[in-house]
Amino acid sequence: LRIELIVVGDEILLGQTRDTNSAYIARRLTAEGLRLERILVVGDNQEHLQKALEASSGHADIVILTGGLGPTSDDVTRPVLADFLGMPLRFRQDLADGILDRFTRRGTRPSPGWESMAHFPAGAEPLPNSQGAAPGIFAQAGARCYYALPGVPTEMQPMFDRDVLPALVRRRSSVFKSCIFKSVGVGESHLEQKIGPAEHFRPATIAFLPSIDQGVTLRLSCGGVSEQDVESVLKRGAEVIESAVRESLYAREEIALEAVVIDYLRRKGLRLSLAESCTGGLIAERLTSVPGASDVFDAGLVTYSNDAKMSLLKVPDSLLTSFGAVSAECAAAMAEGARAVREVDLALSVTGVAGPGGGSPEKPVGLVFIALASAGGTVVERHHFAGGRDSNRRRSALAALSMLYRYLSRKGLPS
Ligand code: ATP
Repeated sequence: LRIELIVVGDEILLGQTRDTNSAYIARRLTAEGLRLERILVVGDNQEHLQKALEASSGHADIVILTGGLGPTSDDVTRPVLADFLGMPLRFRQDLADGILDRFTRRGTRPSPGWESMAHFPAGAEPLPNSQGAAPGIFAQAGARCYYALPGVPTEMQPMFDRDVLPALVRRRSSVFKSCIFKSVGVGESHLEQKIGPAEHFRPATIAFLPSIDQGVTLRLSCGGVSEQDVESVLKRGAEVIESAVRESLYAREEIALEAVVIDYLRRKGLRLSLAESCTGGLIAERLTSVPGASDVFDAGLVTYSNDAKMSLLKVPDSLLTSFGAVSAECAAAMAEGARAVREVDLALSVTGVAGPGGGSPEKPVGLVFIALASAGGTVVERHHFAGGRDSNRRRSALAALSMLYRYLSRKGLPS
């Protein structure tokens, strides 16, 4: 089943709105073993939309459109689609009643131009919009189907899930499935080296998707005619990937590293505190974004100055004088101090030179020390990141969470 998406809206082309509708639709299709072949983005422009419809209709069995269904003059999807399909717009009293009823129930006056939303392509089917005024459009032209949905994500998503996705799943003649492997601590080229040539996975394909906050996600995808064949190809590929990069894998589903870490802490009954310097609370922010973090997360101390390190974490003045704040010794003392002061099982600390200033030949920008203190002792890791301030801080937070994950999952660090 060849599916194409046409995203309509000047706001996307101007960079004012991030096109989350495409990502949503692509994700939902992929989860059902379907796949988008192409996404076209056009502005609120009749001619450009007309051309996009012509292009998509040349390839696709299914054409989905989002945006441009509203009542204003720049909303061009309804008239252009009607014209393209040769289905003239006709006023429909049932749609007008529904739109007016919605305004009445909300106690608001109908928005100017609301009547245009009740003008509907003759022969097309309206798709009810539970969250907004403009109905969606379903039209069939020969074997090809067109679905036009609103641009507002809260309106589009339930309509797509209720009226579009199930219909496509029923129509599909082939299968497309994928599985993911989330890894941390190893760069994409090293991962690629470890798992071997992509040809070994054929007919499946493998994609490396790096994220500065979450490590590298590997996606193994395969299309075919039989669900059983596709699943067995993916199973074989998954076994190869798992055994090649087991040490750096932290999830087989869409879940954040911080959520995996919180889950481990909870299952092990351990409480954690943080002593952050160059990350300025980024790690605490990530951990506390996980619902239920309070079960295991005690405190995050942002100890930026030497004075704060001494008074809040009991880092000795003499240590700071001898080794400096950016040192393995200081990172260890910060973690041990946080663990003692907060009386917790584990404490994680980060100290480094985020840049752009503050570097020296011995301690260059991007040099970061991370320490983890536990009942079994303290481990320190040294990193040298090569980015700007923002990137160095985020990479430090990821490296710290990665270290904590490896300790908790007994992957390469003493527990
Ligand atoms: P409305 O009834 O609100 O006019 P519409 O179908 O005409 O709906 P648009 O006017 O194209 O939709 O877009 C309305 C708003 O929806 C935009 O301002 C934008 O915030 C959001 N939006 C539109 N397209 C997208 C998209 N592809 N991804 C995310 N948000 C979008």
